[in-house]
Amino acid sequence: MTAATPIVQAPIVQARGIHKHFGALHVLKGVDLVVAERELVFVIGPSGSGKSTLLRCLNRLEDPSGGSITVDGIDMLDRGTDINKARQRIGMVFQSFNLYPHMTALGNVALALRKVLGLDRPAAEARARAALERVHLADRAGHYPGQLSGGQQQRVAIARAIALEPRVMLFDEPTSALDPELVGGVLAAMRELRESGMTMVVVSHEMGFAKAAADRVIFMDDGRILEQGPPAAIFGNPQHERTRAFIGQIE
Ligand code: ADP
Ligand code: MG
Repeated sequence: MTAATPIVQAPIVQARGIHKHFGALHVLKGVDLVVAERELVFVIGPSGSGKSTLLRCLNRLEDPSGGSITVDGIDMLDRGTDINKARQRIGMVFQSFNLYPHMTALGNVALALRKVLGLDRPAAEARARAALERVHLADRAGHYPGQLSGGQQQRVAIARAIALEPRVMLFDEPTSALDPELVGGVLAAMRELRESGMTMVVVSHEMGFAKAAADRVIFMDDGRILEQGPPAAIFGNPQHERTRAFIGQIE
């Protein structure tokens, strides 16, 4: 092969000067977050520091009080933007899996494809099956959530999100509700997703995952990004006392 021509990619996520107030509470105090294509950004910080609110602002589950956000080139805060269409580019996985208990794993994933993309049942189910294969649950397609472990249910939730072929995936404490022995399978699915080239923003306490898979770690404190850098720098040589204290507490 000849030398590749470098391709300069626009960032997938560009959030600038994000503020969020809940009444008198000032929760985000000017956050800048730029995420490059294929980057995995890992967000840590004390409870209440604004991590979830930041993720929720990115896909407009919350309306920021100020700042600008583009995702895959789309202005998320422009009144003219079709927000439902824009959200198709952003997959989100929460601590709670929110699967429909009366539908199989396949049915849960296919439903999203039928509702959001308007696919007919055979097309939706074919694509849902492929998504379940990516999280190694093809053999559980016919199982109901109640017949699956928490870790398997979370992998179904991941399959449901990636089936829509988003440009970026947001994870908000995806393993926090799981028994310890089930965490590894979900993290492995996330690792594979990352290796397939997905752009990801992950809020989590799983420092081992961050060290192994993150390109950049962001430490949030009291509505601000206090410091950020490669995992080795943030975990090995944190610059701020508050980062040191937080990491000491977690590890
Ligand atoms: P983290 O995810 O880092 O724990 P959150 O983003 O959930 O932090 O919350 C940041 C702050 O905003 C907390 O003080 C929380 O109580 C507050 N908060 C979050 N959502 C709401 C809401 N819908 N209404 C009022 N306050 C909220
Ligand atoms: Mg949170």
